Amino acid sequence: MMTRNNVHDPVLIDTVWGSVAVFGHELVSKKDLIILGECLSLPEFTIKQADHRVRSVVFRSDNRPYSSTTGRPILANCSFDAGAICINLNETFRVAVSNARDNVSVSVVASYHRNMILSFLHEIHHLAMLDGTPDNVEEAENEAEDWAWARLVQLAQTVNIEPAHFAESSFLNKKLSVLNSLDSWSHDQYNMMDNRVMYTIGLNGYFTFKGYIRLIAGGKESDPKWSKTIPTNSQDTVSKPVYVKPVPEYKLDEQVYIQVVQSAPTPQVEYEEEYPQYNNNYDDEGVTYEPIQSSPTPVQPPSQQPVVQQPPAQHSPLSENEIADIVIDIYKRCNAFIFDNCEPLKDSDLAFENPKKVSSNGIPLTELEQSIIIKMDCQDIEGRWCPTMSTVNGMLFGGVMKNTKLPYYKIFINMGAGVQKCRLLLPQNPATMESNGNYKYTAKQARAGNEILYIKEGDETIIKKNKETNKSDFYFKIVNRVFMKA
Ligand SMILES: [Zn+2]
Repeated sequence: MMTRNNVHDPVLIDTVWGSVAVFGHELVSKKDLIILGECLSLPEFTIKQADHRVRSVVFRSDNRPYSSTTGRPILANCSFDAGAICINLNETFRVAVSNARDNVSVSVVASYHRNMILSFLHEIHHLAMLDGTPDNVEEAENEAEDWAWARLVQLAQTVNIEPAHFAESSFLNKKLSVLNSLDSWSHDQYNMMDNRVMYTIGLNGYFTFKGYIRLIAGGKESDPKWSKTIPTNSQDTVSKPVYVKPVPEYKLDEQVYIQVVQSAPTPQVEYEEEYPQYNNNYDDEGVTYEPIQSSPTPVQPPSQQPVVQQPPAQHSPLSENEIADIVIDIYKRCNAFIFDNCEPLKDSDLAFENPKKVSSNGIPLTELEQSIIIKMDCQDIEGRWCPTMSTVNGMLFGGVMKNTKLPYYKIFINMGAGVQKCRLLLPQNPATMESNGNYKYTAKQARAGNEILYIKEGDETIIKKNKETNKSDFYFKIVNRVFMKA
């Protein structure tokens, strides 16, 4: 492969702001480059005409870049002065394997692909928005993380971002040869990859990356946003005039399916430790999209996320996915009700003009929904607290927080077999401050008119326990109507 003396030549991705040179393109698939081109051609860079300020992208297969402070590999970084993005393919792959070992229903390819696109978007956002190291690193990271996830969802809904077959990426092809071993996880992974299955539920294999992203985002297949047909055959997009200069032909590595001795599986490392604080002028420690990374499976989340947990089958005719769909749909309706009816305020410590709407007007529930959302804590029209009211009358009501005046819903979910979970749905408080007296990043976001709602633990005894064990009470959030993990 290295015999071509011009192999290091970049290919150029054409964007409205000029060409972006891509080095190391021979390591990834042509489709990966097309997707990178899509990321650089998002509406904010084309319709709104803001320069993405990306001038070059480098793919590396030598486990670089790494953190200049810890010396540990990181997923990606960027250089503000050079307008350059560097992607660490080894680390991207290592994280994907770790994800797929935690969540056996997800293909390594799906996880790798997602992480790579999120890295593109995350670093593009840094370059487009920042001139150098941000004053508030956490804020910049949060912003890049939210933006990257929202744009990945948007891309999945609107353009073909399905990965190429892994054999079309020389890096992935070589790496995946380690999976040709006898243990059942590797065997299953290999089967999934060979058949281009992105994830499995039960005995079924599902083929699209789009479907995988939809499940993480909690979207319904019937939602017009997701049901729009997008060509899934990569042939359809290859003809797209993304390149000024074609990708040179390269020979696939020969050792594709050779069995190699696999090193010990990556130990489970806390992400904090793995990606410590971002702290110099261009290292990106990749802290940013860890919530999605650490739990990429929409179908088998950790046990504290009951929404998509499987109820014992003998007590409920509903599948785990049906329950998840119903509960997530109700979360979204509560969110929409609050922001459509409570009259959100901008640049105000008070979030809503009319929070009482959640207790005066109910959200209709079907009989099926009443059997899942069985009770609620709410207020009556006079503002009197009505704990654990049944939803049997077909309406879901909320209440208003005494101190913050935030509208809320507190619901009790029937998981079957007498198991019940309690969830509190609460918008971002626009008055939340940091210890230095500045508004928190998320509060500033809310003040600027962003719609942010959290889905938190509602059971006081679990909240107490979480406090003792330093666990988070936050499960999901809905940001500008996009459902995501908190
Ligand atoms: Zn970053």
